[in-house]
Formats: sequence, structure tokens, C-alpha cells
Amino acid sequence: MRQRTLFLIKPNVTKKDLIGEVLQIVEKNGFVIEELKMFKMDELLADEFYKEHLEKSFYSELSEFMRSERIVGAVLSREEAVSKLRELVGDTDSNKAELGTIRSMYGDSKGENAVHASDSLKSAEREIKLIFG
Ligand code: ADP
Ligand code: MG
Repeated sequence: MRQRTLFLIKPNVTKKDLIGEVLQIVEKNGFVIEELKMFKMDELLADEFYKEHLEKSFYSELSEFMRSERIVGAVLSREEAVSKLRELVGDTDSNKAELGTIRSMYGDSKGENAVHASDSLKSAEREIKLIFG
């Protein structure tokens, strides 16, 4: 089934001017960029976007990182987009991500792991609404 999922390019990538490279990888892997925007997260949006992590010990670090620079949001579509994008993105911890995944190539750590990909269809719907309205 063709699905839509949310993709974010995080501050450690935008800061290094590697947005184009990362978008090229998703396009070469069969994803269509349906919507695209560059913006900065504020505290309210970070709290809502990452609400499942609000109580975690790493949350303030995560929130500060995500608000530190402009980021890119994209709605991507293809067959089985949610699971295929998670596969392409790789493990949360960049140092553990499989070779060839976006996080293995562009991630710097577990926190600064280059990109976000929705973890389920339900999350994708919620996150697309949050970022694109
Ligand atoms: P994923 O993005 O792979 O779905 P999670 O939902 O578990 O991972 O975490 C959300 C984001 O929070 C991660 O992408 C990463 O940026 C950050 N994060 C997760 N765990 C840690 C941690 N132990 N220390 C610092 N940042 C973390
Ligand atoms: Mg997650």
C-alpha cells in the first residue's frame, strides 16, 4: 500500500549544508517528496512532537538540539513508506546503524542522529499534521 510518512532533517545535517545530499538519497530510494519546508522548532512544538519522550532523562538535550538550528520537514510517499524509511534511516544510535543507512553516514551520535522518520502510520499522520497543518 502506498503510504505517506514524515521525514525531518535535523540540525547537525542542516548546519553542515548537507540537505541536498540527504534529500537525494531518499529520492533515489523511491520516495516522492510530496511536501517540503524549512523551519525552526520552538519549545512548544518540540514538546508536542516528542511528547512520548518528555519525561526521559535525555529530553532537555533533545529539545535543545532540535531547536538549535533550522530543520527540514518533508512528507514522503512510496509503497510501505513508513517501514521502508525506517529501514533506510537505520538505528537510533548512529554508531550502531547499519552501513549504508542515512544515520550511519550523517549521524554524529545517538542524539545527533541526522534525521527523523515516523515509527508507524499513526505517528506519521499525527506528525504530518503537526508539521504541515
Ligand atoms: P527514533 O528517532 O529512532 O525513533 P526515539 O524515538 O527512541 O528514536 O528517540 C527520539 C530521538 O531522541 C532520537 O532520534 C534521538 O535524537 C533522541 N534520543 C533518543 N535516545 C537518546 C539518548 N539516550 N540520548 C540522547 N538522545 C536520545
Ligand atoms: Mg521514535
